[in-house]
Amino acid sequence: MNFNHLLTERETKQACRNKTYKICKWKPVSEGRATAANQIHFDMICDTCGCRTTKFMHFREYDVHQKIIKEEVYGVQSS
Ligand SMILES: [Zn+2]
Repeated sequence: MNFNHLLTERETKQACRNKTYKICKWKPVSEGRATAANQIHFDMICDTCGCRTTKFMHFREYDVHQKIIKEEVYGVQSS
């Protein structure tokens, strides 16, 4: 699964300094944790070049992606 849509183009450019952002393939490696001001943050890593970044988003936006993020982090649960 591709999670690149969780990051904006600007964020991927900042995270990948060697200009590989166009081929980067991001995936979440931690579940979201709450921070102040209704923000959730979680870590993402790039499979292509190994770079890391911390993604911040509003908890309502995180809610939309929560299921696929947990499946990626903990393994897909078949119910
Ligand atoms: Zn990368």
